[in-house]
Amino acid sequence: MFRRRRPRRRPVPPPVRRAWLARPLPPRVLQRLRRAEAHMQAGRYAEAAALWLDLAQAARRGGWTARAAGLTLRAAQALALAGRVEDAQALAGPALDTLVQHGRLGWARGLAQRLEDALRQAGAAAQAEAWHATWVARLPARPPTAGPAAQPAVLTLPTHCPACGAPVRHDEVEWAPDRQAAYCAYCGVRVAPAGG
Ligand SMILES: [Zn+2]
Repeated sequence: MFRRRRPRRRPVPPPVRRAWLARPLPPRVLQRLRRAEAHMQAGRYAEAAALWLDLAQAARRGGWTARAAGLTLRAAQALALAGRVEDAQALAGPALDTLVQHGRLGWARGLAQRLEDALRQAGAAAQAEAWHATWVARLPARPPTAGPAAQPAVLTLPTHCPACGAPVRHDEVEWAPDRQAAYCAYCGVRVAPAGG
Protein backbone atom coordinates (compact mmCIF):
# COMPACT_ATOMS: atom_id res chain seq x y z
CA MET A 1 0.00 0.00 0.00
CA PHE A 2 2.65 2.37 0.98
CA ARG A 3 5.07 3.00 -1.67
CA ARG A 4 8.39 3.85 -0.35
CA ARG A 5 9.28 7.20 -1.57
CA ARG A 6 12.71 7.53 -2.83
CA PRO A 7 14.58 10.30 -1.12
CA ARG A 8 14.89 13.07 -3.58
CA ARG A 9 18.46 13.43 -4.61
CA ARG A 10 19.93 16.78 -5.10
CA PRO A 11 22.01 17.02 -8.22
CA VAL A 12 25.64 16.89 -7.21
CA PRO A 13 27.65 19.66 -8.81
CA PRO A 14 30.78 18.44 -10.56
CA PRO A 15 33.92 19.04 -8.54
CA VAL A 16 35.83 22.14 -9.52
CA ARG A 17 39.13 20.85 -10.79
CA ARG A 18 42.13 22.80 -9.71
CA ALA A 19 45.41 22.76 -11.55
CA TRP A 20 47.50 22.62 -8.40
CA LEU A 21 45.83 19.36 -7.38
CA ALA A 22 46.09 17.76 -10.77
CA ARG A 23 48.55 15.49 -12.43
CA PRO A 24 50.28 16.63 -15.62
CA LEU A 25 48.53 16.03 -18.90
CA PRO A 26 49.61 13.09 -21.07
CA PRO A 27 52.43 14.01 -23.50
CA ARG A 28 50.22 13.55 -26.56
CA VAL A 29 47.77 16.17 -25.24
CA LEU A 30 50.61 18.61 -24.58
CA GLN A 31 51.84 17.91 -28.10
CA ARG A 32 48.42 18.78 -29.54
CA LEU A 33 48.30 21.98 -27.51
CA ARG A 34 51.74 22.92 -28.85
CA ARG A 35 50.64 22.11 -32.38
CA ALA A 36 47.60 24.39 -32.04
CA GLU A 37 49.85 27.25 -30.86
CA ALA A 38 52.19 26.60 -33.80
CA HIS A 39 49.28 26.68 -36.28
CA MET A 40 48.14 29.97 -34.79
CA GLN A 41 51.64 31.49 -34.96
CA ALA A 42 51.94 30.42 -38.59
CA GLY A 43 48.55 31.88 -39.52
CA ARG A 44 46.90 28.49 -40.08
CA TYR A 45 43.84 29.65 -38.19
CA ALA A 46 41.33 27.01 -39.28
CA GLU A 47 43.71 24.22 -38.26
CA ALA A 48 44.36 25.87 -34.90
CA ALA A 49 40.63 26.30 -34.28
CA ALA A 50 39.85 22.67 -35.11
CA LEU A 51 42.53 21.40 -32.74
CA TRP A 52 41.48 23.71 -29.92
CA LEU A 53 37.86 22.65 -30.30
CA ASP A 54 38.88 18.99 -30.06
CA LEU A 55 40.99 19.72 -27.01
CA ALA A 56 38.15 21.69 -25.44
CA GLN A 57 35.81 18.75 -25.89
CA ALA A 58 38.33 16.41 -24.25
CA ALA A 59 38.81 18.86 -21.36
CA ARG A 60 35.04 19.07 -20.85
CA ARG A 61 34.78 15.28 -20.78
CA GLY A 62 37.48 15.19 -18.12
CA GLY A 63 35.57 17.65 -15.96
CA TRP A 64 37.86 20.60 -16.73
CA THR A 65 35.04 23.00 -17.42
CA ALA A 66 36.97 26.27 -17.14
CA ARG A 67 39.88 24.97 -19.18
CA ALA A 68 37.44 23.76 -21.84
CA ALA A 69 35.95 27.26 -21.97
CA GLY A 70 39.41 28.82 -22.30
CA LEU A 71 40.31 26.48 -25.15
CA THR A 72 37.00 27.24 -26.84
CA LEU A 73 37.84 30.94 -26.67
CA ARG A 74 41.23 30.32 -28.27
CA ALA A 75 39.34 28.47 -31.02
CA ALA A 76 36.96 31.42 -31.36
CA GLN A 77 39.89 33.80 -31.74
CA ALA A 78 41.34 31.59 -34.48
CA LEU A 79 37.97 31.32 -36.23
CA ALA A 80 37.58 35.09 -36.23
CA LEU A 81 41.02 35.44 -37.81
CA ALA A 82 39.96 32.82 -40.38
CA GLY A 83 37.03 35.10 -41.26
CA ARG A 84 34.37 32.99 -39.56
CA VAL A 85 33.16 35.89 -37.47
CA GLU A 86 29.69 34.61 -36.59
CA ASP A 87 30.90 31.14 -35.61
CA ALA A 88 33.53 32.76 -33.43
CA GLN A 89 31.04 34.90 -31.55
CA ALA A 90 28.54 32.05 -31.13
CA LEU A 91 31.22 29.94 -29.46
CA ALA A 92 32.73 32.70 -27.40
CA GLY A 93 29.68 34.01 -25.52
CA PRO A 94 28.79 30.82 -23.62
CA ALA A 95 32.48 30.09 -22.99
CA LEU A 96 32.94 33.51 -21.40
CA ASP A 97 29.88 32.92 -19.24
CA THR A 98 31.51 29.72 -18.01
CA LEU A 99 34.78 31.46 -17.14
CA VAL A 100 32.88 34.16 -15.25
CA GLN A 101 30.93 31.50 -13.33
CA HIS A 102 34.24 29.92 -12.36
CA GLY A 103 35.54 33.25 -11.11
CA ARG A 104 38.25 33.38 -13.78
CA LEU A 105 37.59 37.03 -14.57
CA GLY A 106 41.11 37.99 -15.57
CA TRP A 107 41.29 35.14 -18.01
CA ALA A 108 37.82 35.93 -19.35
CA ARG A 109 38.74 39.56 -19.89
CA GLY A 110 42.01 38.75 -21.62
CA LEU A 111 40.36 36.29 -23.97
CA ALA A 112 37.42 38.61 -24.66
CA GLN A 113 39.86 41.39 -25.52
CA ARG A 114 41.85 39.16 -27.85
CA LEU A 115 38.69 38.10 -29.64
CA GLU A 116 37.83 41.77 -30.12
CA ASP A 117 41.31 42.33 -31.56
CA ALA A 118 40.86 39.32 -33.86
CA LEU A 119 37.50 40.63 -35.08
CA ARG A 120 39.12 43.96 -35.96
CA GLN A 121 42.00 42.22 -37.66
CA ALA A 122 39.47 40.24 -39.72
CA GLY A 123 37.90 43.52 -40.86
CA ALA A 124 34.73 43.04 -38.80
CA ALA A 125 34.86 46.46 -37.16
CA ALA A 126 31.14 46.71 -36.36
CA GLN A 127 31.10 43.27 -34.77
CA ALA A 128 34.21 44.17 -32.80
CA GLU A 129 32.46 47.28 -31.45
CA ALA A 130 29.40 45.29 -30.44
CA TRP A 131 31.57 42.61 -28.89
CA HIS A 132 33.45 45.23 -26.91
CA ALA A 133 30.24 46.73 -25.54
CA THR A 134 28.69 43.35 -24.69
CA TRP A 135 31.72 41.71 -23.10
CA VAL A 136 35.00 43.52 -22.83
CA ALA A 137 33.64 46.70 -21.28
CA ARG A 138 31.60 44.72 -18.76
CA LEU A 139 34.29 42.39 -17.49
CA PRO A 140 36.30 43.81 -14.62
CA ALA A 141 40.04 43.63 -15.08
CA ARG A 142 40.36 42.15 -11.61
CA PRO A 143 37.94 40.32 -9.34
CA PRO A 144 36.09 42.90 -7.24
CA THR A 145 36.55 41.00 -3.98
CA ALA A 146 39.83 40.74 -2.19
CA GLY A 147 40.40 37.04 -2.74
CA PRO A 148 43.75 35.47 -3.50
CA ALA A 149 43.37 36.34 -7.17
CA ALA A 150 43.00 40.04 -6.33
CA GLN A 151 46.37 40.18 -4.65
CA PRO A 152 49.33 41.38 -6.64
CA ALA A 153 51.40 38.69 -8.25
CA VAL A 154 54.52 37.79 -6.37
CA LEU A 155 56.30 35.88 -9.11
CA THR A 156 57.65 37.03 -12.44
CA LEU A 157 56.46 34.51 -14.97
CA PRO A 158 57.85 33.61 -18.40
CA THR A 159 55.90 34.84 -21.43
CA HIS A 160 55.00 31.34 -22.61
CA CYS A 161 54.27 28.01 -20.98
CA PRO A 162 57.33 25.76 -21.28
CA ALA A 163 55.11 22.68 -21.65
CA CYS A 164 52.36 23.66 -24.10
CA GLY A 165 53.60 26.96 -25.54
CA ALA A 166 50.50 28.95 -24.58
CA PRO A 167 50.90 32.61 -23.62
CA VAL A 168 51.35 33.07 -19.87
CA ARG A 169 49.84 36.14 -18.23
CA HIS A 170 49.73 37.00 -14.57
CA ASP A 171 46.01 37.63 -14.45
CA GLU A 172 45.12 34.60 -16.56
CA VAL A 173 47.10 31.73 -15.03
CA GLU A 174 45.69 29.73 -12.17
CA TRP A 175 47.33 30.60 -8.86
CA ALA A 176 47.74 28.36 -5.85
CA PRO A 177 45.84 29.82 -2.89
CA ASP A 178 49.04 31.22 -1.34
CA ARG A 179 50.07 32.86 -4.66
CA GLN A 180 53.42 31.08 -4.43
CA ALA A 181 52.86 28.98 -7.54
CA ALA A 182 51.24 29.60 -10.91
CA TYR A 183 49.81 27.00 -13.27
CA CYS A 184 49.30 27.30 -17.00
CA ALA A 185 45.61 27.93 -17.69
CA TYR A 186 45.65 25.59 -20.69
CA CYS A 187 47.70 22.58 -19.61
CA GLY A 188 47.95 22.96 -15.83
CA VAL A 189 51.74 22.66 -15.73
CA ARG A 190 53.36 24.59 -12.91
CA VAL A 191 55.09 27.56 -14.49
CA ALA A 192 58.44 28.27 -12.90
CA PRO A 193 59.25 31.97 -12.33
CA ALA A 194 61.27 33.59 -15.10
CA GLY A 195 64.96 33.74 -14.30
CA GLY A 196 64.47 31.79 -11.07
ZN1 LIG B 1 50.72 25.13 -20.67
